[in-house]
Amino acid sequence: MPHLMNTYSRLPIAFTHGQGSHLFDEQGRQYLDALAGIAVNTLGHGHPRLVKAIGEQVARMMHVSNLYQVREQEKLSDRLASLAAMDEVFFCNSGCEANEAAIKLARMYGHRKGVESPAIIVMEQAFHGRTLATLSATGNRKVQAGFEPLVAGFVRVPFDDLSAIETVAQHNASVVAVLFEPIQGEGGINIAHQDYLKGLRRICDDKGWLFMVDEVQCGIGRTGKWFAHQHAGIKPDVMTLAKGLGSGVPIGACLTAGQATGVFQPGNHGSTFGGNPLACVAALTTLDIIEQDGLMAHAASLGEAIRKGLRESFADLPGVVEVRGDGLMIGIELDRPCGDLVRHALDAGLLINVTAERVIRLLPPLTFSKDEANRLVQMLSTLVGKFLSA
Ligand code: PLP
Repeated sequence: MPHLMNTYSRLPIAFTHGQGSHLFDEQGRQYLDALAGIAVNTLGHGHPRLVKAIGEQVARMMHVSNLYQVREQEKLSDRLASLAAMDEVFFCNSGCEANEAAIKLARMYGHRKGVESPAIIVMEQAFHGRTLATLSATGNRKVQAGFEPLVAGFVRVPFDDLSAIETVAQHNASVVAVLFEPIQGEGGINIAHQDYLKGLRRICDDKGWLFMVDEVQCGIGRTGKWFAHQHAGIKPDVMTLAKGLGSGVPIGACLTAGQATGVFQPGNHGSTFGGNPLACVAALTTLDIIEQDGLMAHAASLGEAIRKGLRESFADLPGVVEVRGDGLMIGIELDRPCGDLVRHALDAGLLINVTAERVIRLLPPLTFSKDEANRLVQMLSTLVGKFLSA
């Protein structure tokens, strides 16, 4: 038995390698990957340009300490700041670390404004990670249970409900920020309306709160724009990224703009591995390929086609509540728990995920082809049809 800590219910399968949108297991069986490591493998598996860039960087220099200037990190900060129209970037290694940075930053921002006990508004069904602060911000009791006492200073409201925010604004003078996912991933592919984003931005401006978006799952071109909040034409004060940024090489980022900029000073925050040359080259190359190959427009149109195909094939199927999503972030909500579908899909050679018990989640690589999309729709029609009629 491997000496692994028992933190995951793993499926009985191990992959040996991948190519494009496919993974291969130890028996040589091929799987269509419609999950991409949960929105991580932006460019699929073994993308030749990414492999080359990473290989060259490994040979040149993998890591240097943040005690020194790191040119690759500076270059990536400039690139991200320009894509997001934001000012500063802190680099780390994961989504929870990026959110941890955002939470610390909001608290320090609050203290600077003279708020004794700064609070952050967070959402029901949110997922922000599994460190103590980020699980406390997460809106899922299962993630929190057993780890009490939770970190204090979070006020929870229903998602996509502006009146709930207005009520908090009237009654809680300790609030200094709002942290939320423009599209909730783990929570079941729940999309915040554009009017909500605009209204929330207005309230944050009025109250001097930081508008903090967690784009760890929905960012990096997946919804057809670099960042999901950009569909609403608004700009956040803080944005967190990870997952797809390095196409499989771990990297996270916390970006700031406007009044959130300049809050951290030397000694306030740090990360040994954060923004090392290897991770930054992986991210820079990922962003270059997304741009050069038009992968955002591709994600938007392919996602639309997949949703259309699914809706058509599920039209006469009671049991499918809704097919929703944006770009290549897609949820199919059923009227019953459907975790077993993951195993059925695996048997059929397809990798998917089920979240929030009843939502089939699809997060294919942005390099997914039209043929692969058609195959995905066909396989899912059969699998879901059989599952619902069983
Ligand atoms: N934020 C969001 C929206 C996520 O979906 C996740 C992971 O699923 C995280 C944060 C945590 O990221 P990580 O697992 O890299 O810590």
